[in-house]
Amino acid sequence: MIIAPWFCNGCGRQNGATRYQCQHCQGIDTYDLCDQCILHTSTLHPYHKFHLVHQLGTGTSNWGGSGPVAVMR
Ligand SMILES: [Zn+2]
Ligand SMILES: [Zn+2]
Repeated sequence: MIIAPWFCNGCGRQNGATRYQCQHCQGIDTYDLCDQCILHTSTLHPYHKFHLVHQLGTGTSNWGGSGPVAVMR
């Protein structure tokens, strides 16, 4: 399988093991945050919900498996 490189839109860190991807900003221009920046979505990327994307190839990328991450404001 191909693990696509990514970087955190909050701090610029590349290819972190934990990736949270915005459910609203998908397609060509995705919005991703690392496990640190996900704590600051209210300032970095408010009003959008993120879900966890497992990066370290456990087989298939199951978008529905871990469920959406509810971001508290
Ligand atoms: Zn970050
Ligand atoms: Zn978004």
